Amino acid sequence: VVEIGQPEHSVVTTCAYCGVGCSFKAEMRGEELVRMVPWKDGKANRGHSCVKGRFAWGYATHRDRILNPMVRAKITDPWREVSWAEAFSHIAGEFHRLQATYGKDAIGGITSSRCTNEETYLVQKLIRAGFGNNNVDTCARVCHSPTGFGLKTAFGTSAGTQDFDSVEETDVVLVIGANPTDGHPVFGSRLKKRLRQGARLIVIDPRRTDLVQSPHIKADYHLPLRPGTNVAVVTALAHVIVTEELVNEAFVRDYCDWSEFEHWAAFVAEPRHAPEEVEKISGVPAAALRGAARLFATGGNGAIYYGLGVTEHSQGTTTVMAIANLAMVTGNLGRPGVGVNPLRGQNNVQGSCDMGSFPHEFPGYRHVSDDATREIFEKLWGVALSDEPGLRIPNMLDAAVDGTFKGIYIQGEDIVQSDPDTHHVTAGLAAMECVVVHDLFLNETANYAHVFLPGSTFLEKDGTFTNAERRINRVRKVMTPRNGLADWEVTQDLARALGLAWNYAHPGEIMAEIAATTPSFAGVTYDKLEAMGSVQWPCNAKAPDGTPIMHIGGFARGKGKFMITEYVATDEKTGPRFPLLLTTGRILSQYNVGAQTRRTANVVWHEEDRLEIHPHDAENRGLKDGDWVRLQSRAGETTLRALVTDRVAPGVVYTTFHHPLTQVNVITTDYSDWATNCPEYKVTAVQVAPSNGP
Ligand code: SF4
Repeated sequence: VVEIGQPEHSVVTTCAYCGVGCSFKAEMRGEELVRMVPWKDGKANRGHSCVKGRFAWGYATHRDRILNPMVRAKITDPWREVSWAEAFSHIAGEFHRLQATYGKDAIGGITSSRCTNEETYLVQKLIRAGFGNNNVDTCARVCHSPTGFGLKTAFGTSAGTQDFDSVEETDVVLVIGANPTDGHPVFGSRLKKRLRQGARLIVIDPRRTDLVQSPHIKADYHLPLRPGTNVAVVTALAHVIVTEELVNEAFVRDYCDWSEFEHWAAFVAEPRHAPEEVEKISGVPAAALRGAARLFATGGNGAIYYGLGVTEHSQGTTTVMAIANLAMVTGNLGRPGVGVNPLRGQNNVQGSCDMGSFPHEFPGYRHVSDDATREIFEKLWGVALSDEPGLRIPNMLDAAVDGTFKGIYIQGEDIVQSDPDTHHVTAGLAAMECVVVHDLFLNETANYAHVFLPGSTFLEKDGTFTNAERRINRVRKVMTPRNGLADWEVTQDLARALGLAWNYAHPGEIMAEIAATTPSFAGVTYDKLEAMGSVQWPCNAKAPDGTPIMHIGGFARGKGKFMITEYVATDEKTGPRFPLLLTTGRILSQYNVGAQTRRTANVVWHEEDRLEIHPHDAENRGLKDGDWVRLQSRAGETTLRALVTDRVAPGVVYTTFHHPLTQVNVITTDYSDWATNCPEYKVTAVQVAPSNGP
């Protein structure tokens, strides 16, 4: 029996797991967190929560946390604990040496979508103003970078169009490449509620997810496409809408570029995009494609929700554009109940992108080559800034292997576990002379670090997260940082060691700077967040109370832009040696690589990564449920247990990537999205064979 103390006070803060952004009351007794209670006034969750937000916070006080900075000369040396001052001075010395020896572009950094807006703003500022280059990237590179590029091109903003409340007015829900039941549980529950009320449902997913069929819910159409054929399938839906004259012509004439629409309509009307042709590519029956297209075009308010099953492909950006086309051609934008809604994975992936964590963009998605924007930051920061886009994460690693990139500051990301082609990642890190890891635990990436800076949890700092509906929620400090410094203070002290005169006393001052430099945040203040609870950007003079639904009465870019979406088959091919296609996803109780959830009460669920395999494919290999299997691709191999199920189609296998022992990314390839380098995690040709275990 565990005695739970009675709380003495509580602090409202925001969950640090997924992009739903649930609000919680952290009930405290002194410095001890007693429990997390979902907050009824939280606008994203309205008193609901999932098992992660409610129970998976014990990692904050887990014995594995590193609380003191550490340094070592070589990665084979033992760690040596040092003071913060010595750690900062060591990094500054090393980074100055590397730039003096190899040039100013020889170093860079990675921001984290787990950290606050204020913290990511500071990291990109450190790199731009302190390192003198734009070698900054974010873990959004490996998840939703195609969303940013695709939606900005089509609509003019790199963000979802709706608020979560909008789902209550939806008549037809189209879910593509997302499993909100596991990935975004609180929003998933709202979606299911709407479906139980009678909204129709189309699911495009290679796997029969819980949404396709569960008690009280049955999808009208499940399109179980072959992994990698999203573009062909979505374009086939558009083909039906155009050729069967189901276009919302009034919307297109009023809000979109008509000549671009005509060009696009002629393209999608070509016979090669007809469902009967696309069935041969995707495996989805033509009748289902036709039926789904008719339902979406004629069923009333149509809303599209999508996830990483859209973006993590070599054509991730093209699929985002195809989805935008589909919403425009049916007039499903600019009012409640419709829209294009990317379900963001991490708590602050929207915010980290908003804050200028990309190598080509300042905060607010403004290109580094734009003179007027650069001038704003140069004036405020007092330094000349580079107008050359910097290196993306994979390019930094390539340059490291080539010997031209020598040092990196990684805040809150375990790229060895989370990025594709692990061997290439480790080769890049091993080739660098100064790797600085700033994190809670000695993660896999820290094996390649020369300096470790202890990080702080969301419970130990003030700031803001921005969720999938662009809602800026306050994160409030509920306990003193166990490591002595909140992450924003660590970055500030590092900047000072590098010679920058930063003097922020509180994250509210950083937000004031963000508001002063970033038009979509111009009206955001901590006082407003206190008064309103949260606010959705754009929040400025035009929209002082924020913008729940975007593009009402016209698109941010002016006219909506239809894009040609040519399907190109991935280079990752099946063949005799690798006859199956592997795709990946998540389970409800664990989170990403499990660094936090595996160190919490959620560990009682104790799920391991299992390989879902169809009974026919299992039988052909002599496999039974629970057997150990060797999963092998052209890139590498791993071992895990089989789960024999017809949730996956013959020829397709599926697993999660939560456990470091499985290391699924050892087998993923280095193919990536043509526009953003987002890795193609969702398609890997594999072979599965019986094994005796790891
Ligand atoms: Fe946290 Fe997401 Fe669960 Fe909400 S749904 S409690 S934000 S993990």
